[in-house]
Amino acid sequence: MTARNLQRIIPALETSDGAGVRIRRSLGQTQHARMDPFLMLEEFGSDQASDYIAGFPAHPHRGFETVTYMIDGHMLHEDHLGNRGDLRTGGVQWMTAGRGIVHSEMPQQESGLMRGFQLWLNLPAAEKMKPAGYRDIQPEEIPAISIGDSTVRLIAGELTIGDQTHTGAVSSGSTRPLYADLQLAAGSRIELPVAKELSALLYLYEGEADLLAADKQKPLPLHAASLLGEGDRVVIEAGDQPCRILLIAGQPIREPVAQYGPFVMNTREELEQALQDFREGRLTDPAA
Ligand code: MN
Repeated sequence: MTARNLQRIIPALETSDGAGVRIRRSLGQTQHARMDPFLMLEEFGSDQASDYIAGFPAHPHRGFETVTYMIDGHMLHEDHLGNRGDLRTGGVQWMTAGRGIVHSEMPQQESGLMRGFQLWLNLPAAEKMKPAGYRDIQPEEIPAISIGDSTVRLIAGELTIGDQTHTGAVSSGSTRPLYADLQLAAGSRIELPVAKELSALLYLYEGEADLLAADKQKPLPLHAASLLGEGDRVVIEAGDQPCRILLIAGQPIREPVAQYGPFVMNTREELEQALQDFREGRLTDPAA
């Protein structure tokens, strides 16, 4: 049993996206700031409506999945086919863009706190052109595992704690995604298994916590992606206050990544095809 250490920190860059929504982007700031199979991680969080009210009007995607986790607030998702998904506090939308989607993601509140994350999960070449699909996961569908005074909300993947194996709301996917929201009580210590084949990161977004590995105790930076080294478990100790941390892991795809904004393919030719399909209104057309 080897505890994973802190290998690389990608601090979040404050930027804006969509029609001017303020976000913190860690993974995905540059093509060197990724962690296969994950392309991007954005945190949005503000109680100022002017930071989020403009939302993300209609825009396309092809070749990967987006996972949106609402911590606080209310957002409406609509796509070109007329699908609608209501994303509420504690809920998740797991969207497979596949061959193509044109959608909007718009706040459904004019005041109050809006907080959450969007993660981009790459698809292997064989799945990039599959039909688009969604899973809208209600807050109560996400297992909440109690460990002492701490809680682990298991959005995706499997976690074995003690002699019990827990399965998240999403349990499929060729990259075996593991996505958990750790809510640790002050001073508590938690140890979680993370299969050694998976690349893994932690993202502390509230409070203080240390990562424990090889007799060393290192503070996790706030609002940053903390990429972890090799090992088969993660050991975290909360500081004097309760803290919240995302644990994200997945099996690397190990294929070339060609990205142009919201299109993520394997080659430049496939990107040019995606752009042409989009311009000609054929992005989502199965016959294209
Ligand atoms: Mn989008």
